[in-house]
Amino acid sequence: MTFSYIDQRFSDIQMLRYRVSGFEFLSPQQHRFIYYLAEAALAGRDILWDQNCRFNLPVRRMLEAVYTQYQGDRTSPDFQAFLTYLRRVWFANGIHHHYGCDKFTPEFSEAWLRNVLAQIDYPIDEQLITVMFDPTIMAKRVNQTTDEDLLQTSACNYYAPEITQQMAEDYYNSIVDASDPEPIMYGLNSRLEVQNSQIIESVYRVGGLYGTAISKICYWLQLAIQEAENDSQREVLRTLIEFYHTGDLHTFDRYTIQWLQCTAGDIDFTNGFTEVYGDPLGIKASWEGFVNFRDNKASERTLRLSENAQWFEDHSPVDARFKKAECRGINAKVIVAATLGGDLYPASAIGINLPNSNWIRQTYGSKSVTIGNLTYAYKQAAKGNSFLEEFVLDATTLEMLHRYDDACDDLHTDLHECLGHGSGQLLPNVSPDALKSYGSTIEEARADLFALYYIADPKMLELALVPDLDAWKAQYYSYMLNGLMTQLVRIEPGKEIEEAHMRNRALIAHWLLAHYGGAMELVQQSNNTYLKIHDYELLRQGVGQLLAEVQRIKSEGDLQAATILVEQYGVKVDVTLHQEMLRRYKTLDIAPYKGFINPRVCPIYKDGVLVDATIEYGESYDEQMLRYSRDYGCLE
Ligand code: ZN
Repeated sequence: MTFSYIDQRFSDIQMLRYRVSGFEFLSPQQHRFIYYLAEAALAGRDILWDQNCRFNLPVRRMLEAVYTQYQGDRTSPDFQAFLTYLRRVWFANGIHHHYGCDKFTPEFSEAWLRNVLAQIDYPIDEQLITVMFDPTIMAKRVNQTTDEDLLQTSACNYYAPEITQQMAEDYYNSIVDASDPEPIMYGLNSRLEVQNSQIIESVYRVGGLYGTAISKICYWLQLAIQEAENDSQREVLRTLIEFYHTGDLHTFDRYTIQWLQCTAGDIDFTNGFTEVYGDPLGIKASWEGFVNFRDNKASERTLRLSENAQWFEDHSPVDARFKKAECRGINAKVIVAATLGGDLYPASAIGINLPNSNWIRQTYGSKSVTIGNLTYAYKQAAKGNSFLEEFVLDATTLEMLHRYDDACDDLHTDLHECLGHGSGQLLPNVSPDALKSYGSTIEEARADLFALYYIADPKMLELALVPDLDAWKAQYYSYMLNGLMTQLVRIEPGKEIEEAHMRNRALIAHWLLAHYGGAMELVQQSNNTYLKIHDYELLRQGVGQLLAEVQRIKSEGDLQAATILVEQYGVKVDVTLHQEMLRRYKTLDIAPYKGFINPRVCPIYKDGVLVDATIEYGESYDEQMLRYSRDYGCLE
């Protein structure tokens, strides 16, 4: 069977496949290690579904029963609409869009579903039907609109329904010790509930909330210990298992530090409650799992960056008070993904920088990865679409974009992850949460600006990371085009920009357009809008100026400035331009979102003993989703 990077398309989604390149060069023991870690990365799937919305799991069970048992005409419009809905729900790990957070609208009728459920003898739960079909109920997974109660208007399941934003904030203000220089990640791994009119934390752990799933994760992690490459990996796994048993966030910090310091060996993983984008208050973390190994050749690139981390810090245009005197332990590498799980599946990040604990980052540094085989799959899949021809007006720019053919994309990700997030420092006594709901956007903007600033620096050529001194201009053009125009296709008509990375890109591009109008402008030609960049050097100056300001905002915890910057440049959508983007994008027929079908890590047993594992690619999207529900579904 020939391998194709492009797979199924539905709604606004294009499914892709990725190759686990280099797996064949690893040893049988490393294969076994990856197999056990991959099982652990898939075992927590249901946790995320329940975190996203408390109705997700029963809805999924109902829909999958229809999928597998429906005896009627599978080519009928109703069934086809049902299929699209189910595939979207699978993709989003729930009934809300994975990126925009709006609830999906079924395009089959409620009457049709009721009829089918009766035919297959599936008990009808009126509440589920209402949640699916009433657009006013649980309309948004994560609401970021200021002036509204963010918890009461968000459908995510990190807080019991009766808890208001004020109650949650009061609770955390009462337990957080602001004088602790090494604070735990308060509330990271729990659901807030009310018991006897007291707020309590229902902790995710063995024997606690999500205990069934967490026990299974621990089972696979335990098996992984005996196949680990070295003692330091074994120690990391043991501490993680201990954390999963106790739920104690001090243990989590200990685990995090061990994980950070564990850089020997090729194989690495993340497994646990990690990113906080799914909580409107940015406190509680969604579950994710990820298994990968180092791409030794490509990692030479990030090694060159991290070896020079101090040089970049010293030469950045930010105020000296906000710079790190000593850049510590930026461990950067290019990796090959072997299994994506939880909040990284099927839609995945292409770069990751962890941990998220500020004091641990300051004291011990961070680990930063670029996922090489995923970015490669994206590039392969994009070949042949006429995106650039549609949106780029002048032949010179078009020629430049084709010539550099994304030569700087991976470099931008490397700079963002391994230097950008790791740079800078907070002033003493500034809380890492000072920027509240604007914190994520400002942090992403800081990392992107750092990357944009340095990708244009001659240092890149000195380190042999770019082909010549012009390649960065192609990156600037793509970035501004995206931030000003084309990323709007991801927004539904009438909506504003909500997601942190999108807000960040809009913020940077619109701020530059407003303050450096001499460097670039939007022009009209035959009813279409185009971006013209007149002066790249000037634009880079602007990037430096904004980087200095964004770092100041972060370092001083200037919430007011963050609010103005994000609200003024990062949130609002020009309705006319938005409509134009949707119209032009439609003619190109490119899906705005992409995600990955996992390859299957298949165990090889001999006389009942695991001896090796192989990678198989043949599984279809539907098959994979049904198998995951069957094999890893364990929560009610
Ligand atoms: Zn980032």
